[in-house]
Amino acid sequence: MYRIKITAVTDTLDIKITKTSQSKLAETELTDLPFGKVFTDHMFVADYINGEWKNFEVLPYGPIPMSPAISALHYGQAIFEGMKAYRLPDGSISVFRADKNFARFNKSATRMAMTNIPEEVFMKGIAALINLDRDWAPSAANNSLYIRPTLFAMDAVLGVKASADYKFVVLTTPAGPYYNKPLRVKIETHYTRGADGGVGAAKTAGNYAMSMLPTQQAQAEGYDQLIWTDAKEHKYVEESGTANLMFVMDNKIVTPEVRETILDGVTRDTVLEVAKSLGYGIEERRVSVEEVLEKIASGVLTEAFAVGTAATITQIAEIGFEGTIHTLNDPANRPVSAAIAKKVNDIRYGLVPDEFGWNWTI
Ligand SMILES: *Cc1c(COP(=O)(O)O)cnc(C)c1O
Repeated sequence: MYRIKITAVTDTLDIKITKTSQSKLAETELTDLPFGKVFTDHMFVADYINGEWKNFEVLPYGPIPMSPAISALHYGQAIFEGMKAYRLPDGSISVFRADKNFARFNKSATRMAMTNIPEEVFMKGIAALINLDRDWAPSAANNSLYIRPTLFAMDAVLGVKASADYKFVVLTTPAGPYYNKPLRVKIETHYTRGADGGVGAAKTAGNYAMSMLPTQQAQAEGYDQLIWTDAKEHKYVEESGTANLMFVMDNKIVTPEVRETILDGVTRDTVLEVAKSLGYGIEERRVSVEEVLEKIASGVLTEAFAVGTAATITQIAEIGFEGTIHTLNDPANRPVSAAIAKKVNDIRYGLVPDEFGWNWTI
């Protein structure tokens, strides 16, 4: 039994559906695919042209014709979302907390001076695509169907100004676990992800472009991922790669408070809500590098993990700071995050009642 939370969706969206004649499903092994490499047979596309949303279409996944002058390529007006659909025990498919991703999509769009998208285009487009490609949703444990909506600027004009026209595309990709082992992360104290007044809270393309060089450098030093620190002093931890950061200190969940330099993660919210429901205390506040290292040393900090839709709940095994590695408790023995992760997963996969109303079955 599942509640449908999306109410503002009308029946009026006229979507043209063109089915592929060359499905790749039969030749695809759906279990534990590497993240984001295999796409389902179809995609959803819509255009915003002359101030109007039009051309709603589900069609075979493939190239999209576009001018090499489009503003998205030159000036980076491009945003995206990431959410997941899970196969429930009765075979139906449930999209997790899509209303949250929809709200953040338009928040990102607004920050990048892009048009907002109506809820019914976003939701109905996703529903139509998933409905057509439903056999692509994996049923193996810890597998899901990752949904990637993206919006980008289509004006073919080389002047720097907000584009008038946009394209909305939704891709779906069956996905196994993003990380398959606990992480060794480096506290980054030179490069910056988000500054006050910047775009850190938007899921916009440039935030990921700028992260690649620092991440490559950390990987060359033997790390898996970074922990970003604040731009002003490099004193406070903010996020880990493309996931939010959480600690267990004194049996409480401690996490950097959301600010304009930090992405307001849906998984972050999910984990906090589930933690509260399990009786854990929550602290959302600034967390300094110094505090983290001191509390690892004194044994007060017992767990650290990264949370995101792609990464789900990924344990952090080691934290490097200025060349010194600080080793945390054995990731296999982390009762607080294990209890939270179990309940989050059980809700997502429909194994327990959906007490928060987070599942939207399609
Ligand atoms: C997507 C993302 C997250 C996690 O957000 P979710 O809504 O939980 O997927 C965290 N930080 C960054 C920078 C991200 O891009």
